[in-house]
Amino acid sequence: MTDCIFCKIANKEIPTELIYEDENYVAFNDIAPKAKTHILIIPKKHIERFDEIESTEDLKLTEWLFTVAHKIIKQKNLHGCRLQVNCGKDHGQEVFHIHLHLLSNS
Ligand code: AMP
Ligand code: ZN
Repeated sequence: MTDCIFCKIANKEIPTELIYEDENYVAFNDIAPKAKTHILIIPKKHIERFDEIESTEDLKLTEWLFTVAHKIIKQKNLHGCRLQVNCGKDHGQEVFHIHLHLLSNS
């Protein structure tokens, strides 16, 4: 998606310090952190919202966001966190490229 800010981050069109990267995912700090640690984990593939996923492939990609979150939690030695996915404008979603919020005050 050409006008998606998270696609641009994943494609390195917008220079962003990446906390994690592999073939399918990147993670980076939220620009407006709501906790001491506030990381966004995204698939490189543009998937708009969790509740509208139709394909098994996209669902699997999304499930693995939790595995990436777990890796980051271990790497950063975080104890206690909140993991959140917002779906839809009326439920707080501002960026329509799926992302898992990882928030921690530890
Ligand atoms: P949501 O409200 O769940 O869609 O979350 C979108 C999040 O993306 C918000 O917490 C924003 O602060 C964050 N955000 C928007 N643009 C950027 C950016 N360029 N880099 C990092 N975080 C961003
Ligand atoms: Zn996108």
